[in-house]
Order: sequence, then C-alpha cells, then structure tokens
Amino acid sequence: MNKFLCLSFDDGPNVESGDTTMNDMLDILEEYNVPASFFLIGNKITEENKSVIQRAIKLGCDIENHSWTHPKMAELTKEEIEAEYEKCDNAILTLTGKKAQFFRPPYISVSQQMYDIIKVPFICGLGCNDWDPEYDAEYRYNQMMKDAQNGTIFLLHVMEKNSPTLQAVKRIIPELKKQGYTFVNLPDLFKNCGVNPDIPNSLWSVAQMTYNNT
Ligand SMILES: [Zn+2]
Repeated sequence: MNKFLCLSFDDGPNVESGDTTMNDMLDILEEYNVPASFFLIGNKITEENKSVIQRAIKLGCDIENHSWTHPKMAELTKEEIEAEYEKCDNAILTLTGKKAQFFRPPYISVSQQMYDIIKVPFICGLGCNDWDPEYDAEYRYNQMMKDAQNGTIFLLHVMEKNSPTLQAVKRIIPELKKQGYTFVNLPDLFKNCGVNPDIPNSLWSVAQMTYNNT
C-alpha cells in the first residue's frame, strides 16, 4: 500500500529583518524534492517577502489561510471573523492568483460560528510543540516519528528563529522516505488517501475518516 504524509507549516512568511526560516525550510524541501503546505498569516505578506512565497509555489507547495492577524477567532464577532478570513484570502489570491483551499484556525480556536462563516475545510494536524523553544529538535523528531502513519498532517511552524524545526525536518524526511512514505501537499494528501475533506464542521488532523475531530 502506498503511504502518504503532509508537512504543513504555519506563521510564515518571515518579517523580522534578516530572518530566513521559511526560505531555509524551502532549501530542505528542494534538496529532498518534497512539496509541503504553508498556512500564511495575511498581514505578514509584504512586498519584501513575496519571492519566498513564489518560490514555495514553484516547489509544488500550496498556500493556505491562517487568518489576517492570528487572533483567537472563537472569541470574535461575526464581522471580525469574516474580516480575518477574507483579508488573508484576498492577499493570497492577489499574490498567487489562486484562492486558499484550506483554513487553519490560529491556536486551533474554533466555534460553530466560524464553521458557518468559513466554508473551506479546517485543518489541525499532529504537532510536536514546535512553537515552544523548550522543545528541542530531538524531541520534535521523535514526536513526529511516533505520529507518522498514512494520512498524517504534521503541524509545524516556520516562524522566525525556529531552527530546531529545520533540524527535525531535515532528519525526518529521509527517514520516513526510507520507510516507504511519500510526502505530498494537502490537496494531494486528501486525494491520494481517498478522503473528501469537504465535510461541514470538520477539523482534520489525519486524512482518514476516523480522524475527523468533530
Ligand atoms: Zn499560527
């Protein structure tokens, strides 16, 4: 049986001067010829970092919506939720010519109101605390190895200074390839796993029907 996995990365692109975390991740993906998925924060998409997003697309990555300002959206009003989603979506559409196909709620904060407003599938994923500097590359690698199965969506971050995740991903790709896994982007993950993600009120962590969280 073919086995598929997706690496998904939140909180890019990078806006701190001199920080190249997302671009460094693209170097690793290019080295191993592996596509991934990037959930961008809309207000971080600037003229200066357009090129890193375009590079990701060239490498076969998809660009997805992670809100405009990264708030806990379950605590927002209907109008605020719409604005957070739409502004990010428009920035992505303007830059890439394509609408985002998936949404990752910041902090995985979700509500029925959000499901009612945002019509694309919500993605969670299996994380390894990689937003927390207390967890080193070794921990992240081991957690990812435990979570690997057919359909796994790894929830990772290319936020500024996140070099332990670069190290963990550099180790995990060849190891999981050796075990027979193929890395694909999110649209291809659902397609290849034979799962239609477009189910109301669903929050996906693994592209298998039994792993739909709601
Ligand atoms: Zn985030």
